[in-house]
Amino acid sequence: MKVEFYGHVRQYHAIQSEIDANVKQVLESGSYVMGPMLKQFEGELAAYHGTKHAIGVANGTDAIWLALMGLGIGPGDEVITHPNTFFATAEAIWIAGATAVFVDCCPKTKCICPGLIEAAITPKTKAIIPVHLYGQCADMVAIKKIADRHKLRLIEDNAQAIGAHGPSFRIGQLSDAATTSFIIQKNLGTFGDSGALVTNCSELDARVRQLRNHGSNKRNVHSYGFNSRLDDLHAGVLSAKLKHIDAWNDQRRQWAARYTAGLKGCRTFDLPVELPGYRHVYHLYVIETKKPALRDALVDFLVKNTIDAKTHYSIAIHQQAGYPWGREARVAGSVANAEANAACCVSLPMFPELTAEEVDYVIAKVREWDAAHAAEGSEGPGLARSGKPCPCCS
Ligand SMILES: *Cc1c(COP(=O)(O)O)cnc(C)c1O
Repeated sequence: MKVEFYGHVRQYHAIQSEIDANVKQVLESGSYVMGPMLKQFEGELAAYHGTKHAIGVANGTDAIWLALMGLGIGPGDEVITHPNTFFATAEAIWIAGATAVFVDCCPKTKCICPGLIEAAITPKTKAIIPVHLYGQCADMVAIKKIADRHKLRLIEDNAQAIGAHGPSFRIGQLSDAATTSFIIQKNLGTFGDSGALVTNCSELDARVRQLRNHGSNKRNVHSYGFNSRLDDLHAGVLSAKLKHIDAWNDQRRQWAARYTAGLKGCRTFDLPVELPGYRHVYHLYVIETKKPALRDALVDFLVKNTIDAKTHYSIAIHQQAGYPWGREARVAGSVANAEANAACCVSLPMFPELTAEEVDYVIAKVREWDAAHAAEGSEGPGLARSGKPCPCCS
């Protein structure tokens, strides 16, 4: 059996008539850029998050640096994030001209460890960007307390967790802005690139609206700006898909629960940790092998057995060749947990349109491999993974 990593075409076929109807409506409207479909989708997205505003932009990376720039953050300013995220989180900080400061992740959630943030703050620090990695929210309550204490801005990189929430908070409610990406592989994705940010701050909303449209909110009148718009065609696709996002995320959660139950007792890797009270939306289902060598062997075995396993992300940002390419960057303290995550992560196929047979085939193959390598998973020399407890775990 072949198990793909993504189910884009299956998803299209499942709601084809709804997507096609919106696409046709846009095509026949004659209005393709900054038109009524974009406006409609922005309204729906703000309502979904319970925020005052939503602004469609060209992609998820732009959403982050437009938020930074809209908040007046740039050269000479430091922005704290963690290094085991998709590259774009740091890239956006550099595009804004600011300095990226990396602190370690929590070994359980893989999100930024709130207990390590304060030690990284300097007089230049202006913002924190927690990433809701793999679909689980960072601890926004703890992070917000730190931000308030030090008068820092807070931008949630929510490219991976639309529809997730914490025990007492919703995404977009404790921050200056939450940004997201709608590239096809995200939980809410269109057939190409686009992104958005949501905010309750009307001033930031107005600034980003102007920045994304050549610095203009009135014909022929411009200030400094860019072209970073979300096309109406994509807005139409996203509007059709937004109606299904909660059901799709529920389905992801069901497959995650099936993986977790099916892989219980394996000795060569740890399963993802879902914190109590959190709604994890499993953008990715990531297990972490006990040693780096086991990771590569497991991925090879799965690929040989026609299971499209991947790694997210096998090189931490500060470990990329040539880092930091002349950009301003700093690693604050040990980032051993982030490095262990990079060396040991394995993403199993995860999308709503998987079938029970596919999930069970993946479970069977992973178990078969685990049984053959169980001795290597236990203690002994060469146990390279640190799994260091962090302040939020201890
Ligand atoms: C996908 C992603 C982005 C960037 O989104 P693009 O739309 O590809 O620019 C940023 N941050 C994280 C964590 C992502 O997963």
